[in-house]
Amino acid sequence: MDFGFTPQEVAFRQEVRSFVARELHGGGEYLLDLEDETDASWRLAVETTKKLGERGWLTMGWPGEWGKGYTLTQKLVFEEEIAYHRVPIANRGGGSWDWVGPALVLYGTEVQRRELLPGIVRGETVFCTLYSEPNAGSDLASMTTAAVADGDDYVVNGQKIWTSGAHRSGWGWLAARTDFTAPKHKGISNFLVPMDAPGIRIRPLVNMADVHHFNEVFFENVRIPKRYLVGELNRGWYQTAVALDYERSTGIGYVASARRTLEELVDYARTTKVNGRALSQEPTVRARLADLALSIETGRMLAYRLNWLQSKGTQPNAEASMVKATSTELLQKAAAIGMQLLGLHGQLRPGSKAARLGGHIVQSHLAYVSMTIAAGTSEIQRNIIAQRGLGLPRA
Ligand SMILES: Cc1cc2nc3c(=O)[nH]c(=O)nc-3n(C[C@H](O)[C@H](O)[C@H](O)COP(=O)(O)OP(=O)(O)OC[C@H]3O[C@@H](n4cnc5c(N)ncnc54)[C@H](O)[C@@H]3O)c2cc1C
Repeated sequence: MDFGFTPQEVAFRQEVRSFVARELHGGGEYLLDLEDETDASWRLAVETTKKLGERGWLTMGWPGEWGKGYTLTQKLVFEEEIAYHRVPIANRGGGSWDWVGPALVLYGTEVQRRELLPGIVRGETVFCTLYSEPNAGSDLASMTTAAVADGDDYVVNGQKIWTSGAHRSGWGWLAARTDFTAPKHKGISNFLVPMDAPGIRIRPLVNMADVHHFNEVFFENVRIPKRYLVGELNRGWYQTAVALDYERSTGIGYVASARRTLEELVDYARTTKVNGRALSQEPTVRARLADLALSIETGRMLAYRLNWLQSKGTQPNAEASMVKATSTELLQKAAAIGMQLLGLHGQLRPGSKAARLGGHIVQSHLAYVSMTIAAGTSEIQRNIIAQRGLGLPRA
């Protein structure tokens, strides 16, 4: 069994590392977007995203020539490096590069592609994703936001929720019901929405870490020109499922982020004394760090294996769910162990003089509760593993 990367992949990893060290202020020492979304950090994320766009790194994994010849394994290497170095990308969770762009390549009209793809490719056009509703999350197909044809437009009424970065995005990727009489999966369509369209109201939701990351979005008689319907009318559910397949390499980023935290904690344990004794000598501290290392290595292997299966052209659903659940639970574990190690210092936020590790641990401890909810909860991932991986009947 050969777990090695090819010389080309090793060289690419070095290229990404050099880029981070050379181009990004601080060499990549930022907080991730769930932990910090001040205007300054947003501006930095936008600037960084454009630089990544200039390198052609935002479209890796896109269909056909759009992927610029990068392999899925190079994409994995990229994800691993930028997460490890905490490189900010503008509203990554909004989907511009991970599913909106690929979906436009697959289903968009020539006009839609010409209007939007160049800006997405350059990192200038930022989308948010408008799927979840107050009564439609895990059971997304129950959505009721309506898009009704009227002349040259669709008229949209309803409410979306948990919309990451809606307040920062120029465009929205919307799923709305276009047929209320069809079975629920068969009456949904996808639309492109200019977020400044009259009738759209955005209300902030602030997370436990005190960060305004997501929002409620209200639609009141919002007119969307018919040219912004993407793909076939009422086929939105199936298009969304294909689009979501493109999201599946992010797990390795979470693993890399946890690995970075582990390294910081190991260093902290080595250099910190409590009651005259180095933390690194405490058996419980050592056991917790070793346990975290074990989980990280397991997560990394699962993510590499998923990437390998995807590189073979398969669509490994159960394995993708394993990676989603493992990698996000890992982020929470790393933050929880960090809080234990830092003791009372752990509660201090960024900016406090007595905060340790830049206050990053407490921010991630509070913000990452949401990671096992976003993009499909851990319970739903286990349902998928039970059904598609183990062949158990649908519950
Ligand atoms: C940080 C963050 C960012 C997000 N960004 C976006 C975004 O940009 N756009 C967007 O559209 N949405 C976004 N979401 C929403 C996210 O997709 C939903 O929160 C998620 O799908 C869960 O839906 P829900 O919150 O309605 O919970 P529910 O579906 O109501 O679930 C509640 C609880 O019940 C459990 N449960 C539900 N059904 C089952 C079942 N069949 N079997 C076992 N357990 C079950 C769930 O696991 C959960 O614990 C975001 C969420 C978070 C936390």
